[in-house]
Amino acid sequence: MTLRVGVLALQGDFDAHCRAVERAGAAARLVRTAAELDAVDGLILPGGESTTMLTLLREERLFEPLREFGRRRPIFGTCAGAILLAREVSHPQQESLELMDIAVERNAYGRQLNSHVARIQPEEEFLRRTGGGELETVFIRAPVIRRAGEAVKVLARYRGDPVLVEQGLHLAATFHPELTEDNRVHRLFLAKL
Ligand code: GLN
Repeated sequence: MTLRVGVLALQGDFDAHCRAVERAGAAARLVRTAAELDAVDGLILPGGESTTMLTLLREERLFEPLREFGRRRPIFGTCAGAILLAREVSHPQQESLELMDIAVERNAYGRQLNSHVARIQPEEEFLRRTGGGELETVFIRAPVIRRAGEAVKVLARYRGDPVLVEQGLHLAATFHPELTEDNRVHRLFLAKL
């Protein structure tokens, strides 16, 4: 059976994620309502503006259903999506789904590094599960993961800080894997469904 991967489509770069999911061999479905959420096997929270997404999640009455979904099904958050998954958000502080034991600081690279591309060497565990070598990472007004709890596995770091982390069902990246041709991070997520 083809896996159905939902992409939250309230705001942000959900289109690029749909294309990345399809390149990785699964079917992407846009999710804007609780009924659409019920019909998918896993969900991607895209990058964008987390404050706006939060407001829209509340307006669409999706916040609680999403938290409930995360107790049973895998969620992959990128950038703003990672901020939504975090237990703690600072700079400024805001509400979140609290599905992963990480503390994130928003827009933490400062102006000069607002948007940058880096080649990083992922952790062994990532390479073992996905193959390949270095990973090209695109950061756009990215958060920094300041703390990762004991249950959180770090799969890649940049300048010493975790940038790809996993906890149980969930995965979070502070960069944008949907913007590069390399679809290993999406495949890693699909393997969790
Ligand atoms: N700066 C955004 C936020 O704080 C995240 C940026 C992104 O998703 N590319 O929500």
